[in-house]
Amino acid sequence: MPTTPKEFTENFEQLKPLMDANMAYYESSRCLFCYDAPCIKACPTSIDIPLFIKQINTENLTGAAKTIYSSNFFGHTCGKVCPTEVLCEGACVYNEQGVKPIEIGRLQSHATTAAIKNSKQLFKKSESNNHKVAVVGAGPSGLSCACELSLLGYEVDIFETNSKPGGLALNGTAPYKITNDEVIEEIDYLQDQFGFNVVYNKRIDTSREFKNLEEKYDAIFLGIGLGKTNIPSTEGTDLENCIGATEFIEDFKMNPLQVKVGKKVVVIGGGNTAMDAASECARIGADVTLIYRRSKEEMGAYEFEYDLIKSVGAKAIFNANLKEIRGGFLVEELLCIRTQSKNGKLEELENSEFSVPCDFLILATGQEKQTDILEIPLLEYDSKGRIKIDSKTMQCSNGKYFAGGDAVNGGAEVVNACAEGKQAAQGIDSFLKNKEI
Ligand SMILES: Cc1cc2nc3c(=O)[nH]c(=O)nc-3n(C[C@H](O)[C@H](O)[C@H](O)COP(=O)(O)OP(=O)(O)OC[C@H]3O[C@@H](n4cnc5c(N)ncnc54)[C@H](O)[C@@H]3O)c2cc1C
Ligand code: SF4
Repeated sequence: MPTTPKEFTENFEQLKPLMDANMAYYESSRCLFCYDAPCIKACPTSIDIPLFIKQINTENLTGAAKTIYSSNFFGHTCGKVCPTEVLCEGACVYNEQGVKPIEIGRLQSHATTAAIKNSKQLFKKSESNNHKVAVVGAGPSGLSCACELSLLGYEVDIFETNSKPGGLALNGTAPYKITNDEVIEEIDYLQDQFGFNVVYNKRIDTSREFKNLEEKYDAIFLGIGLGKTNIPSTEGTDLENCIGATEFIEDFKMNPLQVKVGKKVVVIGGGNTAMDAASECARIGADVTLIYRRSKEEMGAYEFEYDLIKSVGAKAIFNANLKEIRGGFLVEELLCIRTQSKNGKLEELENSEFSVPCDFLILATGQEKQTDILEIPLLEYDSKGRIKIDSKTMQCSNGKYFAGGDAVNGGAEVVNACAEGKQAAQGIDSFLKNKEI
């Protein structure tokens, strides 16, 4: 178990470490600068990847950073946390020849690091157009919306519940993908250039507060993300050493050396959050077992994320349902039952109960939708609790509001939140100027 920052850094070594100039030169030289490049099409923010790789190759790092940031304001964070294996790098033509794809994510972070460390001024806030927009939530979607609005000449105030910006890009993403400092440095860099204002420790959730915003601002963007972990109704979830995955990960990211887990950790779930929780516990020395109710093939997690937990020694039990959490004040044991999928339906197998020792239980059973924000008149949600929007303009059913990110897509990646925040800013601009997009 790491007890010092040095030991922590060793156990949480970066998966995509920064390249030095030589590595970036050689890697960028491999790019074929494809016409109609499939890597661009696979990027939700459509970064001109061959162009920035060419710029790196010709030692124009500032130009490369400008190419990246023109499409994605979280260029550095995304270079490190994007599932590139299934996005740009997964689409690289080299895969077809059985050759390692270009390391696009690492090249991207190479260029953005140079810009951030040297405080390169790539953009300038436009002259004010006398319109004001409020943004609720300083996560990737809210911040991306604020940057684009500032470029278009809007005055932007962001209201954020937490004392720090970044949303789940800061509180959720695994420490072996990106450090907290890197996320904060990129946001500081953006704020220096775009000049939006952030009001921290300010949650907006009552109808009175929304009414206030409606009076003061011309439009409002909702980038509120998702809520707490969806805790199942199984008895025992209130025991002391049972916690939701999002809450555990947030606590761990903010206090990595203080958070204690047990010796025998069980993580329930099969999504990427379950993988992160399992991997993080294994890296601090716990014996970790993942329990998923369906088969390995049916897991929502990316294959490379599952490979990662195996590489740090976590075990997995598939086709098993949690029936009972046993213990007194603390969880001591779990009673599970075998399952099978029949015609797509999950069935429990009779007399197949088994117990699993457990002294720390993490429930990675999805995140709640933030339906309390329903206090906004006319705001509609779909059957899955996602805010309904016009897919072109990101405008909500109440026309003064726009939305993007996890609250709209139900939970995707940082890069999707960035794309949607930027798209919403353009939607707001067209709405306020009464023009077509
Ligand atoms: C454990 C975990 C790991 C992840 N790892 C990755 C990864 O490796 N790579 C990746 O690409 N994606 C990852 N994601 C997904 C990614 O973090 C999210 O898709 C992305 O952060 C969504 O951005 P957002 O702006 O929509 O919401 P969020 O990031 O959730 O930000 C919402 C912000 O709004 C604030 N807020 C909410 N309600 C209010 C209110 N009423 N008033 C004021 N402020 C409010 C919140 O405090 C928060 O700061 C992960 C998610 C989780 C849960
Ligand atoms: S697909 Fe691969 S080789 Fe082609 S431009 Fe993109 S990164 Fe370069």
